[in-house]
Amino acid sequence: MSQTLFEKIIARQIPADIVYEDEQVLAFRDIHPQAPVHVLVIPKKPIARVGDAEASDQALLGHLLLKAGEVARMLGLKDGFRLVMNHGQHGGETVPHLHCHLLGGRPLQWPPG
Ligand code: AMP
Repeated sequence: MSQTLFEKIIARQIPADIVYEDEQVLAFRDIHPQAPVHVLVIPKKPIARVGDAEASDQALLGHLLLKAGEVARMLGLKDGFRLVMNHGQHGGETVPHLHCHLLGGRPLQWPPG
C-alpha cells in the first residue's frame, strides 16, 4: 500500500515544521493554518482515523492526547485551545492517517461549520 502524506512526513521524505517528537507521536504545524496556532499531532503508527483504532491502541491514543495538551502548554496557549479529529467524508477528513488538530491563539467559534 502506498504511503500517506503523513507517513512521508514521519519518514522525513516531505519537510514539516516539527514542534514535538517522541517514539510514538509527531507534532508539526499545519500547512494551511486555521488559527494563529494550528498543529497536527499524529501517531507514528499508521492508524487511518480515530474510529478505526483498536483496543490495543488505547495507550497510544491516551499518549497522543496527553502530548497534545503538553504541546498546547509549550506553545503558550494559556487562554485555551481546541482539539479536533475529523473522521471520514462528513467529518472533513482529507488525509487518511489519524491526526488531532490543535487550534488556538484566538477565540474559536462554536458550533464549527
Ligand atoms: P483533515 O482535513 O482533518 O484530514 O486534516 C488534514 C490537514 O493536513 C489539513 O488541515 C491540511 O492543511 C494539512 N496538511 C496537508 N498537507 C500538509 C503538509 N504537507 N504539512 C502540514 N500539514 C498539511
